[in-house]
Amino acid sequence: MKKTVVEVRNVSKSFGTVNVLRNVSFDVLDGEVACIIGPSGAGKSTALRCINRLETQSRGMIYVDGQPMGYEERNGRFHELDETALARQRAHIGMVFQRFNLFPHMTVLENIIEAPVILRVASRKEATANARALLARVGLSAKENEYPAQLSGGQQQRVAIVRALAMKPRLMLFDEPTSALDPELVGEVLAVMKTLAEEGMTMILVTHEIGFAREVADTVHFMVDGEIVESGAARSILTDPKEERTRAFLSRVM
Ligand code: ADP
Ligand code: MG
Repeated sequence: MKKTVVEVRNVSKSFGTVNVLRNVSFDVLDGEVACIIGPSGAGKSTALRCINRLETQSRGMIYVDGQPMGYEERNGRFHELDETALARQRAHIGMVFQRFNLFPHMTVLENIIEAPVILRVASRKEATANARALLARVGLSAKENEYPAQLSGGQQQRVAIVRALAMKPRLMLFDEPTSALDPELVGEVLAVMKTLAEEGMTMILVTHEIGFAREVADTVHFMVDGEIVESGAARSILTDPKEERTRAFLSRVM
């Protein structure tokens, strides 16, 4: 039996009077690639951001490796974590966004070693060696002293992935990592993600790249209007969805 890494339990979220997530529940097992698909505004990004607590859900709980995100359990009661403890919890979760979010004033290498050094998970020397090894894996060794603005979008996104990996995350979250890229740069980023998936990284990926989802996803969750309409094995959802809304969506994006 594979271990459950992420448990999303009855999560609801509202912004003011707008219900953005409605009773969302799903699990992600160790080594699994879970894709969240659905139309714009469905709540996909919000769901992902709740997992590492960039957003706070209004109701429900999220557990990563059995730990309730944002809380600690003491004497059978949940106590909200302070910023430091939350940062420690988040350090095990890597996130890559749609827009390249590298620090513009730092070189590629500085971007990658920043978090491990600041959070003291590695010495500067260890972090640098690890960063160089990761850069070599994504074919960017020659770029370590360049600044983000000197790189293409695809290169920046590969650095963003490496920067997340530098923290040796338990889980990687990707929010449409290729949707801001020129079409000819999409493939190089997907290739890095595919390698990660093959190496057994547990990943949750929000994407419109249905072809890629078909290649790498184990499970797919289809969201509309804050609800998961259909969940299941990638193969069955992407080729033979049960729900009419899933069918309609897939026929539009493929
Ligand atoms: P998706 O990623 O599926 O496109 P989002 O999770 O970004 O959807 O957004 C879901 C809904 O929540 C949208 O209607 C969006 O306008 C709204 N929303 C997202 N973030 C905020 C926010 N910080 N404040 C208010 N509304 C928000
Ligand atoms: Mg989004």
